[in-house]
Amino acid sequence: MKGYHGAGGEQSPPAYSKVIKTSFKNTIDGVAEIFSLHGNHYPKLDNIRFHLTQSSLQVGLLYYCEIPIETKSSTKEIVVSYFFSTKHILGCIPNHNRWSEIQIVRVIAVLTIHLLSLLAFFYNTSLSTFISVLILVLSGGFGINIGYHRFLSHRSFKTSRLIQFILTLLGVLAIQCGPITWVGIHRLHHQETDRKFDPHSPNVSLLWAHFLWTFFPHPFVTTYQEREKYTKDLLQFPEIIWLEHNFLAINLVFLALLFLSGFLVNGWCGALAWFCCIGCLRICITWHLTFIVNAVNHRWGYRNYETPDNSRNNILISILVFFGEGWHNNHHAEPKSARHGHRWFEFDLAYLLICLLQKLHLIWDVQLPRIPQTINGTTS
Ligand SMILES: [Zn+2]
Ligand SMILES: [Zn+2]
Repeated sequence: MKGYHGAGGEQSPPAYSKVIKTSFKNTIDGVAEIFSLHGNHYPKLDNIRFHLTQSSLQVGLLYYCEIPIETKSSTKEIVVSYFFSTKHILGCIPNHNRWSEIQIVRVIAVLTIHLLSLLAFFYNTSLSTFISVLILVLSGGFGINIGYHRFLSHRSFKTSRLIQFILTLLGVLAIQCGPITWVGIHRLHHQETDRKFDPHSPNVSLLWAHFLWTFFPHPFVTTYQEREKYTKDLLQFPEIIWLEHNFLAINLVFLALLFLSGFLVNGWCGALAWFCCIGCLRICITWHLTFIVNAVNHRWGYRNYETPDNSRNNILISILVFFGEGWHNNHHAEPKSARHGHRWFEFDLAYLLICLLQKLHLIWDVQLPRIPQTINGTTS
C-alpha cells in the first residue's frame, strides 16, 4: 500500500523532522508551533494535508516530531495522531468544548450503572448469566452492530418495517441512545473522521474517544433538530421517531421487568441478580465493547486501504468485539458494505448473520464492497 501510516513505520523518511522542546496546548497550537519553526504560518494549513506523529522521549518535555507532508493543494484535511503522550491519553477535551459543559446527570447515571454492575459478581446465577449473554448478543450484536450501524446508519441492506422495528428496538435496549441520535452522531463521525469535529476522535485523547465524549454536547448534533439534518431518511418512519423519544422509558420499563422477573424466580436475591447482571453488567460490557472501537481503531492496527483518515483494522479488537467491527479501515473505505471483513482471515460474524437473515428472506439487497478486492498486491 502506498502512503504513510504512523510512527515507527517503514515508510520513507519524513520531509521534515526536528527535535524540539515544547508542550502542546492543543492540536492546532502544536501544529502551528511546529510550522512556525519551519517558517510557515496558519494559512498554509489550509492547503496542506499532513500527518503528524508524536512520541514522547521524555514525557511532557521532549517530542520527536515527524511531519511527512503531502502537497495536495486541494485538500483541507489535517490528520494528527499523538502517540504515548500521557497528556493526550487522559483528560483532553476538544477546543470547542468546556469542562463546565459536562452533563453531570449522565456522569452520575453511568457511574451508578457501573457500580451496580459490580453486584452482579455476588448475586448472579447461571440462569441470569445465560440470559445476560443472550441479551448481550441480541442488543449489542443484532441491535447495535447490525441494526443501528450497518442497517440504519449505512443502509447496507433492505428489510421490512417489522424487521427494521425489531432491530431498532434491540439497539434501544443497549442503552447507548435513541436511533436518530446514534445514527446522527455516527454519520457525523464518517463525515468528519479524525478531523476537528469528529465526535469521538482519539486525536483529542484516548479517554475522550472511549467514553468522555458521551458526556459533552457536540456543536453539530446537540439538539434533536440538529440530529434530524443527518437522519432525514429515518424521519419517514413514525415508529423510529417513537423509539427515539421513548428511549429512556422503554429501558426503565425493561429494567423494572428484569427486576420483577428475577423476584418471581428467586425472591430478592433473584431480583438483584437479574437487575445487576442482565441489566447493569450487560449494559456496561456493551458500552465498552462499542466505544473501544472509536479509541483503538483510529490509532492502532494495520490498513488495507489508504483512506483519508487514520482508521485501522485491529485483530485484538476484532476478537474482543466479536461481531466484526474491528475491521474498521475496511469499513471506512466501504461504509455502505454489509461485509466488514475483506481478507480471508478477517472474520465477520455480523456479516455471516446478515447472510443467514438473507437466506431466510428476512432481508435483501445486501451491499458488498465495491472496491476491487486487491489488497497489497494479493487478491482476497
Ligand atoms: Zn471510525
Ligand atoms: Zn460506520
